[in-house]
Amino acid sequence: MASPRIRLLPEALVNRIAAGEVIERPAAVVKELVENALDAGARRIAIAIEEGGVARIAVTDDGAGIAAADLPLAIARHATSKLGDEQLIRITTLGFRGEALPSIGAAGRLSLTSRPGNADHAMTIRVEGGRVFEPVPAAGPPGTEVVVRDLFFATPARRKFLKSARSEAEAAEAVARRLALAAPAVGFRFEVDGRVIFERPPEPLATRVGALFGAAAADHLLPLAAERGEMRLSGFAGAAHLTRANAMLQHFIVNRRPVIDPVLRTALRIAYRDVIPAGRHPVAALILDLPADEVDVNVHPAKTELRFRDPAGVRALVIGALRATLATPAGTLSAARLRLPRFGHSRAGDAPSGASGLGAAAAETMAAMQFAEPMLALAAPPAARQIAAADPPAASAVRESAAVAATIDYPLGAAVAQVLETYILALTGDGALVIVDQHAAHERLTQERLAREWAAGGVRAQPLLLPAVVELSAAEAERVLAEAAALAQLGLEIEAFGPCAILVRALPAALGAPEPGPLLRDIADELADSGTQTSLAARLDAVLARLACHGSIRAGRRLQAAEMNALLRDMEATPRAATCSHGRPTFLRLCRTDIERLFGRR
Ligand code: ADP
Ligand code: MG
Repeated sequence: MASPRIRLLPEALVNRIAAGEVIERPAAVVKELVENALDAGARRIAIAIEEGGVARIAVTDDGAGIAAADLPLAIARHATSKLGDEQLIRITTLGFRGEALPSIGAAGRLSLTSRPGNADHAMTIRVEGGRVFEPVPAAGPPGTEVVVRDLFFATPARRKFLKSARSEAEAAEAVARRLALAAPAVGFRFEVDGRVIFERPPEPLATRVGALFGAAAADHLLPLAAERGEMRLSGFAGAAHLTRANAMLQHFIVNRRPVIDPVLRTALRIAYRDVIPAGRHPVAALILDLPADEVDVNVHPAKTELRFRDPAGVRALVIGALRATLATPAGTLSAARLRLPRFGHSRAGDAPSGASGLGAAAAETMAAMQFAEPMLALAAPPAARQIAAADPPAASAVRESAAVAATIDYPLGAAVAQVLETYILALTGDGALVIVDQHAAHERLTQERLAREWAAGGVRAQPLLLPAVVELSAAEAERVLAEAAALAQLGLEIEAFGPCAILVRALPAALGAPEPGPLLRDIADELADSGTQTSLAARLDAVLARLACHGSIRAGRRLQAAEMNALLRDMEATPRAATCSHGRPTFLRLCRTDIERLFGRR
């Protein structure tokens, strides 16, 4: 058989193949066009899409424009103004491959109208399904407008894979939001079918993040700032009680480019792992800046993936910064948290849309979030008195403690009642109702206390007057004895006592008077789980959490007002006290808005 001849593909076909890689849906066109506008130094960018972007996508900017003579080059393949020769290892612009415009022109009808600042009129060049038209003079302000009509008319196979106009519009909106977050100094407007979905002026990052995340979330974002070598991390991390059912509100921006990156995503997950419930997702905007040659962005045509030269360093920086930020003691969060301006139309429950508002997506976003802290303060409600009256024996203590709360204004308030012998009700000076899960809270406090003591040289041990004998299986006994030295550091002093028993001489003082048997069996279980390879120190958090379970104020124990208040004050002073070691919240805080919402008044 004669071997087939090798030939170069015609340019139009190459562009169509590239179109398949670079622009798989309208959102990708929005991304490429907005990136071009940003690279052109635009201060304002307007994006308008129709019918999910398939009918029309227009992106207008006030950037540098393209000289008339360069217009044919702008839409030619591998033509770019951004990359010097052999410069691929130091990329500082968003674009560099010179294939977006020709790819878009191959798949749809592209019209590019541009006027550089020094030109007295604009020029328009068109490409439709790969066919290039002569540039013609046009009217228009300085800057560039790109209009794409009938996307994928020339590549019908691609068109079949598109989702509904609504989902395509949502995907495009998500892209626009990511880019808007990455470039707060640039004004953005995003319109769908003639309706403004969001519009933001040039503004500081904090304001932009607040606007894009919704005002309610904005109140619970903690600023981040950390460095490692030449890498700088900034942005905002959501407080542990602010979680979502999906990862939609996780933004990663590397060298001004919004990216999807497993290293950053994993670091975020690890940092929050033991402070949020399983299955929930933290909210964050992580902004990483590092030397351009420390990261390769040329991994995929869409340039949303990247490769770090030092992924371990990136991971350490992100996890370290997040953990430090999340260690803010419970309740003080509201004081420490960022103050952001309010956004007129962006509150949950408000009518969607409006030029300065964030529209239905933001409202939905907020509705999907889980709050353990209030969004608004309110005047002290008469509820305090009513609860007090309903519980006569505690009434005077309650009235006193409520009065104290009103003057001192503790973040978690003053205890007013205990409910079901399990939950503490407290009222804050600003009238919010706080509900504390006494067992979960106490468990976390104990764990943190054990951790502090351990870090300071060893957990304080309380010797038993009479050593206790605990029966275990031979395997269990062997397992715990093998770790006897490490366990002594945790305040747990044990010795061998025959093949199937252990002698317990001392227990961690912070636990009070726990039952030695169940405690030791739990530790044996924990050691079995962690296997023999990992040292006890490496599993410290888990072991301390197990120990803490045994010292906790159980659910179902009646507490005095003083005990309840001591617990609240302790929570305010303790890092990570907002969630228990299983990631569940230890307290909820309801302000007037929350309560009104529960009653359907909002
Ligand atoms: P790349 O962005 O990778 O260079 P594109 O195909 O997206 O490739 O764009 C080709 C060239 O067209 C760019 O390098 C730039 O010079 C010019 N260009 C495209 N869009 C704009 C714009 N909005 N403003 C100014 N110049 C632009
Ligand atoms: Mg580009």
